[in-house]
Amino acid sequence: MKKSTTKTASSLKIYCDIFGHKYEMTKKVTSHVKEYTCKCCKRQLTTSGNGKLTELTPKYQEINTLLSDIYTRRMSRLKQKTITSSIC
Ligand SMILES: [Zn+2]
Repeated sequence: MKKSTTKTASSLKIYCDIFGHKYEMTKKVTSHVKEYTCKCCKRQLTTSGNGKLTELTPKYQEINTLLSDIYTRRMSRLKQKTITSSIC
């Protein structure tokens, strides 16, 4: 159990502090809420309730899981509705 990665991560963090993070969308939670990860230091961001980007804390991760669940269910229900109405 060596913590050799800590050093590399912190030096990358300095790089990010100077040049800025290189965020990449890693997960689409809903059409409005997305999760981003920095390619350099692996810092994670998410869209908060007011539409601004915020740090992806375990609390936000929990919220996003719930949101994603609701969103997927709603989308599949919408799809079912469309199928049913097209049959009728
Ligand atoms: Zn970064």
